[in-house]
Amino acid sequence: MRHALAMVLIASASAGAQQSLPGYTAADAARERALEASATARPSPSSAAAHSKALSREAHVSGTPAQARTRDYVVDQMKKWGLATEVRTYDVWMPHATSVHVARVSPRPKELSLAEPAVVGDPTSSLAQYPTVNGYSGQGDVTADVVYVNYGLIEDYAQLDSMGVSVKGKVAIARYGRSYRGIKAREAEKHGAVGLLIYSDPQDDGYVAGDVYPEGPMRNSAGVQRGSILNPDGDPSTPGYGSTGGVPRLSPGQMEISHIPVVPISYGNATELLKYVRGAGVPRSWQGGLPFHYHVGPGPVRARVAVKDDRATKGLKPIYDTFGVIRGSEFPDELVIIGGHRDGWGPGTADNVSGTVSVLEAARAIAEEVKAGARPKRTIIFATWDAEEWGLLGSTEFVEDDSLRLGRDAVAYLNQDVAAQGPRFSGGGSPSLRATLRDAARSVADPDGKGSVYAEWRKASAVADTVEPPMGDPGGGSDFAGFYNHLGIPIAEWGFGGPGGVYHSQYDDYAWMTKFGDPGFRYHAAAARIGAAMLLRIANADVLPYDYAEYAKTMRQYLGPIDRAVAQRHWNAPTTALSAAIDRLEREGAAFNAARDSMLHEAPSIATLQRTNRALLQVERALIRPEGLRTRPWFRNLIYVADENNGYANMALPSVNEAIRANEETLTRTEIADLAARFDRAAQDVADARAALTSGR
Ligand SMILES: [Zn+2]
Repeated sequence: MRHALAMVLIASASAGAQQSLPGYTAADAARERALEASATARPSPSSAAAHSKALSREAHVSGTPAQARTRDYVVDQMKKWGLATEVRTYDVWMPHATSVHVARVSPRPKELSLAEPAVVGDPTSSLAQYPTVNGYSGQGDVTADVVYVNYGLIEDYAQLDSMGVSVKGKVAIARYGRSYRGIKAREAEKHGAVGLLIYSDPQDDGYVAGDVYPEGPMRNSAGVQRGSILNPDGDPSTPGYGSTGGVPRLSPGQMEISHIPVVPISYGNATELLKYVRGAGVPRSWQGGLPFHYHVGPGPVRARVAVKDDRATKGLKPIYDTFGVIRGSEFPDELVIIGGHRDGWGPGTADNVSGTVSVLEAARAIAEEVKAGARPKRTIIFATWDAEEWGLLGSTEFVEDDSLRLGRDAVAYLNQDVAAQGPRFSGGGSPSLRATLRDAARSVADPDGKGSVYAEWRKASAVADTVEPPMGDPGGGSDFAGFYNHLGIPIAEWGFGGPGGVYHSQYDDYAWMTKFGDPGFRYHAAAARIGAAMLLRIANADVLPYDYAEYAKTMRQYLGPIDRAVAQRHWNAPTTALSAAIDRLEREGAAFNAARDSMLHEAPSIATLQRTNRALLQVERALIRPEGLRTRPWFRNLIYVADENNGYANMALPSVNEAIRANEETLTRTEIADLAARFDRAAQDVADARAALTSGR
């Protein structure tokens, strides 16, 4: 995973939602509650622990034989439970490192030992590990003076400029955090660095934050955060289309990839370089947690960074997505999908064996209900994705390959990335599904609390009684991106977090999980229970339970900042029409919710329900633009996107906000008008859904 959550507060819905279920007749609601109670009791900590142990017994980096073994494990389990299974193979350009070196050349030459050493009491720490390298690093062998660039953000290079320090021709060293590492690599190269080292500062997830592994859960002095530096989503050799047999491909020279060697290192190794950097002292906020004063350089310490990979001989590698399918009884063409990535940078017990286990246990629970006679009305698909860690490759190639069917028929995509590594619940996704997610969290007991997951979540968020706990916005950074950013399919995600410093390290393993993350695997089971509840709730609804009143309320919060930015610049770019369209969406959403609640007493015909649901599926599709964002055509969704200057931070209403950032008044005005027209279309789709529902009377 490579994302962080941004938070939005929304007014609390009134109580009393416990009895009726949005989208269900009274009789169906009682049956559904009973079914969910039965299904959510089925995921078990002991079977979650067994899956976790099996899937994290070895490092399973995409493209390796070990990763083919996790494919077989997942497919075998799903077959055993009676699911129809499918494996889709894509050939993607994904070079693997063959040699990586970092050395201090002066003072006192020293080759740095990059691998993560074995730890006592942790059996998988002594097994073969993937080299400590950033995925999609450029190849090269460079030696130069070192410059410390703080987090390597755009503003950090501006600060260096003001100090008269340049990275041109130098090896930059940046700390992890505050931005996606792909942005750090892009900016270092853009500013002329010949190589980049990215290290985990102890202030971030090491000894400043807590005791280090194996004594505590945080990163020790030899722990390394591997990870991709690819910026576009999906196989960079097939942008916008699936990497299926025989398709045309870009050559490496045409791809949007790094051209300089980029290597992640531990803070133990970073010390061997940073300790000797001189030049100006750092601004106060640039000081990290190592026990000496940091300097920016350049030099006098010189470093060598060398990376070689297998692109000349086998850059293309097969990746494998797996699917388990339960065909729906009444609306088989409508798809409810849950997925998690199956690849890791090491044993990956948290990232993302835990998500894979959540998908597996939800599949087992629902498969057992099907055997007991309760087939869902819609088709449910349980997916595990390959090569997420390299840049969302498996899910992106699937979405691009099957975009017509998904664009037409996918009702929701639920993502599980790091489902359990601690006790703290968080969730997020499209505002249309947040009410459903809150209700699923209400229906599952918190493993450590006296109440529900929802009750503990509310307590931990410490929000007033009148507002709901904050949810994250789907900017990007995990496998929902293809579904959400590219196709406009409603998505939701959730998981349980906690303190940890083994992200993308060989130490993200079963020993760490059983000692620190989720010792009893009860949070793994709880994540799967929420998954089972979400899947059944959406799959069995007569009328899809989207909430477009909450959606519109959430959107309205983004208008204030736009108005202020426009006013500051004295532009003529009013948001009046956009605001009116969002108001209309809220009115139509509320009217639809009311019609849905009252119509369902009358048991509408299947044809009526199909027409209603077809109209509902159009609503969020209306908020995507086929030609995409001006700067990034693959990103079609105009509601949320990852900030192109950060990669982790989210940007809401990006077509408008990017125009403001580009300081273009006319463009801002036309983007506001464009977005207003799309919100108007979305409101009309909700009105059409209500007309379809009430005309069936
Ligand atoms: Zn992940």
